[in-house]
Amino acid sequence: MSRILHRSLRNEPLLAVSGRGLMVQGATGAPVIDASGGAAVACLGHGDERVVEAITRQARQIAYAHTVFFTCQAAEELADLLVGHAPGGLTHAYFVSSGSEAMEAALKLARQYFLEIGQPQRHRFIARRQSYHGNTLGALGLGGNFARREPYTPILADCFSHVSPCFAYRFQDAGESDADYVARLAAELEDEFQRLGPDKVAAFVAEPIVGATSGCVTALPGYFPAMRAVCDRHGALLILDEVMCGMGRSGTLHAWEQEGVAPDIQTIAKGLGGGYQPIGAILAQGRIVEALAAGSGAFKHGHTYQAHPVACAAALAVQRIIREDNLLANVQAMGARLETALQERFGNHANVGDIRGRGLFWALEFVEDRASRKTFAPARKINEAVKDAAMAAGVMIYPMGGTIDGRQGDHVIIAPPYIARPEDIDEIVARLGRAVDAVLG
Ligand code: PMP
Repeated sequence: MSRILHRSLRNEPLLAVSGRGLMVQGATGAPVIDASGGAAVACLGHGDERVVEAITRQARQIAYAHTVFFTCQAAEELADLLVGHAPGGLTHAYFVSSGSEAMEAALKLARQYFLEIGQPQRHRFIARRQSYHGNTLGALGLGGNFARREPYTPILADCFSHVSPCFAYRFQDAGESDADYVARLAAELEDEFQRLGPDKVAAFVAEPIVGATSGCVTALPGYFPAMRAVCDRHGALLILDEVMCGMGRSGTLHAWEQEGVAPDIQTIAKGLGGGYQPIGAILAQGRIVEALAAGSGAFKHGHTYQAHPVACAAALAVQRIIREDNLLANVQAMGARLETALQERFGNHANVGDIRGRGLFWALEFVEDRASRKTFAPARKINEAVKDAAMAAGVMIYPMGGTIDGRQGDHVIIAPPYIARPEDIDEIVARLGRAVDAVLG
């Protein structure tokens, strides 16, 4: 019996033995195509020798150097690559070990910024329902995944509140124009600022493309500028969580590049290191860092493994490869192919209510009835069943469900590595088709 406290204490997971490119081999069974990068992590696929070499070189040179004493070349070069050209005004990077840690750091940086500029009353954070920002207590309290949040409510901070997401398939009213829907959401955010006291709000936090909780939900055009305008009106920050949708997944390096806004603080993680090492980061606007520099002179935060040399070396190699191999162009081309293939295969399926996403980040939402968009009974665990059938059919897709505002969302995410070729995309959709047929007919 395994001594690991696994996610499921009923079904032990398969032992992973090896990975090459898109293929992952377990201890038993045939190799499977990793069509979700795990959870949108493995952006270069598995076993890229260039990354392995960079990791090995760094580990030989120096594997660990505490940031109280040292910086390291890999972290400096990675920061230069990410923010040296100040994209959207982002000028500084802070490296941590996961997406949740990045979210915690973002919240604390926002809070400290307002302390430094003499606005200590700002301590409220507004996020959205049907969002996910991580599993540590700050990130969990912030997030709007109520199924994950609920058991821990008594131990979560009460500085968080939630407004509606921009989720057209589920929440746009029949007959409501896109412009009216966006205006309604902006008014709701404004109302929330007023309810809390506009000068109490530190930041509004959102995923540009909602990942795990609701499945690759893109915002309507004009939504993010409208949200930004509310934040600007009241002097609050905009924090964008690109842990899942960022670093090329959407077809541009940052998903916000397609939204007409830039964040004050951004979080990134999964595609940063591509799973070769655990690494996440926040990217911050110059004026925020300057306020800290002019004030207390330090970011009052820290982790033992921040800016870990081996993790930074891995991420540096991954990010260089994305640029050198022109992989963003491949994400766009293969993303278009994936969209077409999903539409052809599932566009008329009685139980596929919505096919949505961008770049190489797509989801199918399953419904019992297409016309009414009625969801399946939660007990049927359709998303889990499709995941299991997909594994049996030789393809890994990422399942998600959970009761959200009384609605059960069953979806699976398809997020192949950026190196996918046309024949990979076709094979992924063919195998997924067999899995969906096996579960839903
Ligand atoms: N934010 C988003 C948008 C995520 O998708 C995730 C992970 N799924 C996190 C934060 C938390 O990241 P991690 O699991 O690395 O802590």
